[in-house]
Amino acid sequence: MEDTDILIAGGGPVGLMVALELARFGVRAILINDGAETALHPKANAINARSMEHFRRHGIGPTLRAAALPTDYPTDVAYVTRLTGRELARLKMPSSSDAVVESRAGVSPYDCAEPPHRCSQIYLEAILREAAQARPTLDVRFGHRLEEFRRVDGGVVAVIRDLAADNTYEISAAHLVGADGGRSTVRRQLGIRYLGDGGVEREMMGGAMMATLFRAPRDAGWLTIDSAWQYWVVAADLRALLLTVDGADQFTLLTRIPDDVDPETIDDQALINQAAGRPVDAEIILRQPWTAGHELLAESFGGDRVWLVGDAAHLFTPTGGLGMNTGIDDAVNLAWKLAGDVRGWAGPNLLETYEVDRRPVGARNLAFARGFAESIGTFEVDPCVDDDTSKGEAERARLREHLSDHSRREMIIPGIALGVRYEDSVLVWPDGSQKVPDDADAYVPTARPGHRAPHVWLEDGDALCDRFADGFTLLRMDASVDVAPLFVAAGVVELPVALLDLDEAIVQARYEAALALIFPDGHVAWRGDVLPVDCVALIDRVRGA
Ligand SMILES: Cc1cc2nc3c(=O)[nH]c(=O)nc-3n(C[C@H](O)[C@H](O)[C@H](O)COP(=O)(O)OP(=O)(O)OC[C@H]3O[C@@H](n4cnc5c(N)ncnc54)[C@H](O)[C@@H]3O)c2cc1C
Repeated sequence: MEDTDILIAGGGPVGLMVALELARFGVRAILINDGAETALHPKANAINARSMEHFRRHGIGPTLRAAALPTDYPTDVAYVTRLTGRELARLKMPSSSDAVVESRAGVSPYDCAEPPHRCSQIYLEAILREAAQARPTLDVRFGHRLEEFRRVDGGVVAVIRDLAADNTYEISAAHLVGADGGRSTVRRQLGIRYLGDGGVEREMMGGAMMATLFRAPRDAGWLTIDSAWQYWVVAADLRALLLTVDGADQFTLLTRIPDDVDPETIDDQALINQAAGRPVDAEIILRQPWTAGHELLAESFGGDRVWLVGDAAHLFTPTGGLGMNTGIDDAVNLAWKLAGDVRGWAGPNLLETYEVDRRPVGARNLAFARGFAESIGTFEVDPCVDDDTSKGEAERARLREHLSDHSRREMIIPGIALGVRYEDSVLVWPDGSQKVPDDADAYVPTARPGHRAPHVWLEDGDALCDRFADGFTLLRMDASVDVAPLFVAAGVVELPVALLDLDEAIVQARYEAALALIFPDGHVAWRGDVLPVDCVALIDRVRGA
């Protein structure tokens, strides 16, 4: 029987991210994915700032920014009556290269090293897979399916089917990670249910939907609205979202379809024509019926060597672009704890904190996504919306006001991406500082323990997070402070900690302390002007002992 440290079931974005994060610690992992290829369906398009920071750590930030849309393509969001009709509202958003310039200049609403990026999951998954395949401690197997698993003393044994050879074999591992999506075999075998609402029906982003990936020359007269990344068609007879996939001739149309109609009978070409308001010479590449309106959270994120991440743990409606992004953050939180267990420096409570940290974030983000879906999906549109009448003008004005407000609330959400905090975690050493509000549209940088370590551009142009180690980082902003006792305490249990000396006033101002201990996932564990008297207690706390 083959043996590894961690077995990952599922090679979507979240499973691949678990693998990459484990590779930071040199932990061996086998990732299996039943599909032979990465996603063909361009589901996620919005990669948030926090996911981008995580990807940056793996050196794939520039590759992602060069993928999909041209770097100077605007990522505006337009609301229209038809693709050849009137524009009702528009949220202007920077191109990928402008977003980076704004971030460097400190004028982005996203105070971070990597602003959000628009890139289809088709490109993202292929890039993540290539990165994972290049790591020597990872074994990535597409075309293999996890059929079942059993817990054994000190680990898990899983039965895997090689789908090309049509035979089964077994792998034993210290832990199994279920990153196997919404229909997760791992979750079902654990007997863990999703709680919440599934497929809540709305005019848009709730109930039966069709996703149609197609190719059409964009200058052929069917798309007369100025360039945008998203075009929301808001009409009495149709709700649809056209997404620009490559900035050239590839698009995805997400359309609300009647709940009682068999998706097989839906004519995708007719939907495209209806959205455009005229015939379109479209080549349909792929069609995928799907259901929007989910707000589902697994009742448990696992335990006892079997863990759930990503869609296996929570299922979102796509508004706000939070499904995959929440999963990427799950992956980062879980992986360092698994590494600690495999390497022997984890305390007995470390792995339990994965659910304690991440399940509330899942619930928080599901609630935000639902709010956005209610706002875009529950208003009526009068058939006069495209009329050259005062009634039509009044309807457009009404929609313009609602959509302008909605678009800002759904699309500019630094608080959701960067404001995640684990301040109630038993791993965190509280410092008695004031709580910071948790708002979707505002991010308040704070080094209060439990929060994401605030970003700073350093004098040499690096981002502070680029200097963080793969294990823990002790950030010292005053070189005269003695930190030796912390390294002695960490050395006893072989906890990996690196010292990062930075004598830059801006860093100290941001962290409001001379020292800060940073977890491997980039959240603050502890801060102070001198070390605590009992450094063994600090080290024990952050490793869950
Ligand atoms: C239309 C649409 C738009 C979206 N837009 C966004 C967005 O903009 N931003 C965002 O963050 N999210 C978005 N999402 C959600 C996002 O696509 C998902 O949250 C994301 O794919 C979840 O990743 P995952 O790795 O957890 O699961 P999946 O992507 O579902 O990957 C699971 C993988 O596991 C494999 N698998 C399943 N069972 C087994 C098994 N037994 N053995 C081996 N392999 C198995 C599957 O084949 C699959 O490859 C969108 C979703 C949709 C439908």
